[in-house]
Amino acid sequence: MIVANLSSPRKRGSIFFKKGIIMRVIVDEETCTGCGVCAETCPEVFETDDDLAKVIADPVPEDAEDSCREAVEDCPVEAISIQD
Ligand code: SF4
Repeated sequence: MIVANLSSPRKRGSIFFKKGIIMRVIVDEETCTGCGVCAETCPEVFETDDDLAKVIADPVPEDAEDSCREAVEDCPVEAISIQD
């Protein structure tokens, strides 16, 4: 199920592959406040740059999937979408 529009130029993300399942993690740049929670929670996947979060792992390391999901849940403004 697609939970975000990848065609939007204001979103940037990454495609993740694990056990035959494609996952997309997307940061909505219009919503992101650059707080850095995602990068602190899952530095393997997220980094803050120019006061915005960006996805830096493609594909996400398998052992970072749980922390990636935690980062999605912990984002205070729900700027991250994940698909699996
Ligand atoms: S936790 Fe959310 S608001 Fe904070 S930097 Fe990451 S994506 Fe942006």
